[in-house]
Amino acid sequence: MSFPRRQFLRAGLGLTAASALPFAAGCAALPGAGPSGTRVSEGVYRARVGSATITAIADGVAVRPLADGFVRNASLAQVQQALSDAGLPTDKLTIPFTAFVVENEGKRILIDAGNGEFGAPTSGQVVNNLKAAGFAPESFDHVLISHFHGDHINGLRNKAGQLVYPKARIHVPAPEWDFWMSDANMAKAPDAMKGAFQAPRRVFGPIAGQVERFKPGAEVAPGIVSMDAFGHTPGHTAYAVMSGGQTWVFLADFANVAQLFVRNPDWAVMFDMNAEMARQTRRRLLEQAIAQDWLVSGYHMPFPAIGRIARRGAGYDFLPMG
Ligand SMILES: [Zn+2]
Repeated sequence: MSFPRRQFLRAGLGLTAASALPFAAGCAALPGAGPSGTRVSEGVYRARVGSATITAIADGVAVRPLADGFVRNASLAQVQQALSDAGLPTDKLTIPFTAFVVENEGKRILIDAGNGEFGAPTSGQVVNNLKAAGFAPESFDHVLISHFHGDHINGLRNKAGQLVYPKARIHVPAPEWDFWMSDANMAKAPDAMKGAFQAPRRVFGPIAGQVERFKPGAEVAPGIVSMDAFGHTPGHTAYAVMSGGQTWVFLADFANVAQLFVRNPDWAVMFDMNAEMARQTRRRLLEQAIAQDWLVSGYHMPFPAIGRIARRGAGYDFLPMG
């Protein structure tokens, strides 16, 4: 864990003052919540974190039939019970995708890029929702990527081969780059995984020399610090913004469906490449989120995918804003 502890302590000390700030009205306050947010449109939700603005941008959803093996270490019956306890259908999973815009210190930053033209027909809405939020794709200074799974990077380049955020500097975790761009790793991957190596090659191949690779723990854009969150993929990385005594952390794929994997943090989704490391990372981040009263986001959390973590029994709940 390389995040500067001093800054977290400072963030924690500011919470009492933060909760008294008159943020946009109209949202039920969560217990202990400081900021509240505003729904701009169906797929756009905006919250303040100190002097930074965080905007959730829906990319849509993917629906998949629930099958044995989605959770590697729980039976189908246990998974169905957890879904039923949460009031969700037990025969299928609806998995949302949400990217984020951070406006901080005069810069506009996109975190993760959605499915673009390469996902389910019910996804690929990032650019439309950016426009609904008033953000032209050409207006971005930086794009930060959490990891190289296709649902997070395919939106960077369209089918015609054009970069969707042509003026942005693209920042990626170095260990993620090293793993996925290695031809040796692709050659030795099982056949079922080879396709996953194609997305980063398509997206980054033509601009390999311009992509900025950072070591997780570094400050990567104005006021945004990266945090290693390895396990889901070898270089999976979270991003934190601290401003005005508040902290927001984008936890990316620290957990898939919240009602399964935040609720049962020891369960492993089939997409976690190193399930044990992902489990330890998930537990560490969930505990930190509570101890330091983070506002958190997850790429697959229920929209607006901004909320807080609360402890419940041996697990946790994700409590979305709005
Ligand atoms: Zn994902």
